[in-house]
Amino acid sequence: MYDIAIIGAGPAGASAAIFAAKAGKQTLVIDNNKSITKMAWIKNHYGIMDIAGPELVDIGKKQASALGAVIVESTVQNVTKSGNGFRIDTEGQAYEANQVILATGATVDLAEKAGIHTKDATEPRIKRVIEVDAAGRTNIAGIWAAGTAAGVSVHTIITAGDGAKTAINVISELNGERYVDHDMLKRPE
Ligand SMILES: Cc1cc2nc3c(=O)[nH]c(=O)nc-3n(C[C@H](O)[C@H](O)[C@H](O)COP(=O)(O)OP(=O)(O)OC[C@H]3O[C@@H](n4cnc5c(N)ncnc54)[C@H](O)[C@@H]3O)c2cc1C
Repeated sequence: MYDIAIIGAGPAGASAAIFAAKAGKQTLVIDNNKSITKMAWIKNHYGIMDIAGPELVDIGKKQASALGAVIVESTVQNVTKSGNGFRIDTEGQAYEANQVILATGATVDLAEKAGIHTKDATEPRIKRVIEVDAAGRTNIAGIWAAGTAAGVSVHTIITAGDGAKTAINVISELNGERYVDHDMLKRPE
């Protein structure tokens, strides 16, 4: 049983996985490699002069797995309530997790199949998004959403930020207190 399962490893999902794994949570990421970010040449991501979308996506996955997240390349077909968590069915295998974050980008088919409320999108070129509250919660307790799928502005700095925000809210809920992830710069002796 994973603590947190994240569906999607684009900027939103991988950013959520970085925070979840770094917080010591058993973190699973399932992704079927269809990120829209792979078409982007990005010159407006704070802190990075410019970067190709595929490289940004690749670095994000590397960061998450270096921090302990398990990344599986597969398609999630359904998410159902099971015991005190959720069963996540992929093509070949089923997984269990206590909390789930949907970061599926421009597609919300999985969310709709799992009974999660969606609505018409407001961002250009996006059709439907998942209904979330400010914390990223959906209508099903324990299932959250982040990034493009949660209706935020479709830019890497914003979707990555939303993934981080939602992960911090999930970690805080699991810990029963607000979570902060700060590392100190080591001062030269
Ligand atoms: C042509 C183009 C140019 C762009 N240029 C810029 C730019 O210059 N600057 C900028 O900031 N942004 C740009 N963007 C937008 C940027 O790519 C997106 O904003 C963004 O970062 C989306 O992140 P995301 O994580 O929400 O979605 P995505 O990156 O799309 O990630 C979603 C992931 O979920 C996976 N997934 C979905 N359903 C399932 C399932 N059932 N099972 C398993 N995996 C699943 C997909 O395979 C995908 O990897 C551009 C986008 C496009 C299309």
